[in-house]
Amino acid sequence: MYVSSRGAAAQLTAAQAIAQGIAPDGGLFVPAAIPSIEGLFLDRLVPLTYQQRAAAVLDLFLTDYTNAEVAACVAGAYGSGKFDAAAVAPVIKVKEGTFALELWHGPTSAFKDMALQLLPQLLVCALKKIGEQAKIVILVATSGDTGKAALEGFKDVEQTQVIVFYPEAGVSRIQRLQMITQEGDNLQVIAVKGNFDDAQTGVKQIFNDAAYNAALTEHGCKLSSANSINWGRLVPQIVYYFSAYADLVKAKHIRQGVPVNFVVPTGNFGNILAGYYAKQMGLPINKLICASNSNNVLTEFLTTGLYNRNRQFHKTFSPSMDILISSNLERLLYHLTGGDSAQVKQWMTELNTTGQYKIADDCLAAIHALFPAAWVSDEVTAATISQVHKEHDYPLDPHTAVAWQVAENYRRQSGDTTPVVIVSTASPFKFNETVLAALTGSDSLAGQTEFAALQELAKIINRPVPPALAELESKPVRHTVVCDKQDMPAIVKAQLQLR
Ligand SMILES: *Cc1c(COP(=O)(O)O)cnc(C)c1O
Repeated sequence: MYVSSRGAAAQLTAAQAIAQGIAPDGGLFVPAAIPSIEGLFLDRLVPLTYQQRAAAVLDLFLTDYTNAEVAACVAGAYGSGKFDAAAVAPVIKVKEGTFALELWHGPTSAFKDMALQLLPQLLVCALKKIGEQAKIVILVATSGDTGKAALEGFKDVEQTQVIVFYPEAGVSRIQRLQMITQEGDNLQVIAVKGNFDDAQTGVKQIFNDAAYNAALTEHGCKLSSANSINWGRLVPQIVYYFSAYADLVKAKHIRQGVPVNFVVPTGNFGNILAGYYAKQMGLPINKLICASNSNNVLTEFLTTGLYNRNRQFHKTFSPSMDILISSNLERLLYHLTGGDSAQVKQWMTELNTTGQYKIADDCLAAIHALFPAAWVSDEVTAATISQVHKEHDYPLDPHTAVAWQVAENYRRQSGDTTPVVIVSTASPFKFNETVLAALTGSDSLAGQTEFAALQELAKIINRPVPPALAELESKPVRHTVVCDKQDMPAIVKAQLQLR
């Protein structure tokens, strides 16, 4: 069963929690009890496919779904042709004691696919189970990665419609092309005249407008969100920690039971929190190392216990980690305080009103035991991309490079020799401009198109351009609507063909 991190009384089934998304008191749904694995669970995972491992892990959390339902959801998400690696999330040995868990073989070349391919399957199944008839309208404001991953995940999924708003001049050319060429009959992509905050504020206003929502309900529509506050986006991510461990055992890199460290490039704290659940379930994890860029709010928090969002926002080479409010931290705090939802609620209220809160010493001690944290600058990130390519012939995207360097620094400073898995969150091709500049030492693409840049990068790193990115050049543009930010509510109604 699932409860709100802020204490609303009702316990919900997984299907109810996934269909609701966010708890009525503004909290996030958390499992009332974290399931634990028994002795042979890991042994049994070793010979299995990713899909089978996913079903085995998900069955422990989605106890109101039948095994057949879970298996069908998993097949729909990770089945034939969706991922360009048979292993779905392969583990690569880069050097002695350091491995990369590649989470970017899905349709959009970034790790959001791991969750956003499965969430729609879980949601549709949930709607059937609870008898919800309304059409679920997913509104997304995106700075790039989430929008495209949501479009791919919800494309032609029954009983759902997706409307993505992106800032007209605020996404990379590849990201824009990925979205405006999107195929599917249940989705719209709309450029907003403004920046990401304008798009996000517009979406939030729609969500919070009671009269507007009532009008939608009357027409059989219900708004929902695809971001990582939904339990259905978090639970798929627990799977790849288990799968990575099983792969290490299978390839005889470690013996069953030996602990490993995971280093996670972190923004909203969703990815690394999934690792925390895996550890609590009994997966042999020693440390979960939190890697940040110069938006180092989490480094400070995990080190000192003070969460302080009152700081300058930096645009970095790793834009998907340019975040000052890590919403999934709320779930961690709930568990670390032993489910003290009144305390969690108080901290979140302080964050809202003053922009900061400080946790108690015992809670901080628990964090210190598990979550080393550090950050690196853009300069160091670029140097890391270049160095790892030279020394190990392994290309890193900027987010993964942050994690790599934090892992190196941690190992040196702590003397901890535990095998390390770097959680790799994007293909280097997705951030080709930064990667090319790091590898060639030149600052600009010198007027090249994105596609020429992709081909040049392919030559330098001697790896093929992911087909979905290469194909963009020849795909027809299908979405051309541009709107002013104040017109977003009217645009949604128009897209839903309501008056
Ligand atoms: C979203 C994203 C992250 C951050 O993940 P969180 O779950 O928000 O911590 C890191 N790298 C890439 C490439 C991403 O798209």
